[in-house]
Amino acid sequence: MTPEVYEKYEIFDTHAHIFPEKIAGIATDSIGNFYGIPMNGMGMSEKLIESGSKIGVSLYLVCSTATTPRQTDNINHFIASECAAHSCFYGFGTTHPDSEDLEADIKQIKELGLHGVKLHPDFQKFNADSPEAFRIYELMGEDLPLLIHCGDARYDYSAPARIKRIHENFPKLKLIAAHLGGYQQWDAAEECLTGLDNVKFDVSSSLAFLTPERAAGMVRKYGVENCFFGVDFPMWSHDDELMRFLKLGFTEDENRKIFSGNFKEFVGIK
Ligand SMILES: [Zn+2]
Repeated sequence: MTPEVYEKYEIFDTHAHIFPEKIAGIATDSIGNFYGIPMNGMGMSEKLIESGSKIGVSLYLVCSTATTPRQTDNINHFIASECAAHSCFYGFGTTHPDSEDLEADIKQIKELGLHGVKLHPDFQKFNADSPEAFRIYELMGEDLPLLIHCGDARYDYSAPARIKRIHENFPKLKLIAAHLGGYQQWDAAEECLTGLDNVKFDVSSSLAFLTPERAAGMVRKYGVENCFFGVDFPMWSHDDELMRFLKLGFTEDENRKIFSGNFKEFVGIK
């Protein structure tokens, strides 16, 4: 990739995972095993920046999910401290539907200066449209965006139909449906999630599996203005994902929107 290709764009990576150094190896391996995909480096802040710098990423939405309610507090503090140490980080906290005090979790996320909530129903083993999960969305209100993992052919927790029900019950919730709305369930995603207000999409962990025509078609169907570029590091490397993305053949103006313009507008970054 020649620098000229990306130097004209401001590039945000709106889906990145980081873990504390002590557990980064184990956490990265466990994602790799869960998905049966070899990882592209370790999920650590420095490694993320090293990979993203190759394509000039200027902002990373960093997050991590709590597989048990007990981890929530540690993760939220970790993400907040990494954001304090890295001005290019834009942190989302997490919670767990089984948490004893969801209200306190959401309050903590706001108090720590985190900008949203990341949930991964398949890792966290809850139905995205369960009453417990609805309680989280209710507490999040209209300002705190939700980045939610969507889709897995092996499970039903985050199926696109469930994501649609979140939107139907919380039409004002600022929802980001990861992986073009349904990892390995892209047909269902397109069917369930097209044309919904307040629902955005990231293209992460999708481009390696879809033809450029199919991926571009989905982005067009959802609306170019509703899609964000994201890499899902450490699943993929930034230069590989950028290369795949550029094959989608959007215009420079469309690229500019997907790389950063849409996200800025969505979260209100000047
Ligand atoms: Zn994720």
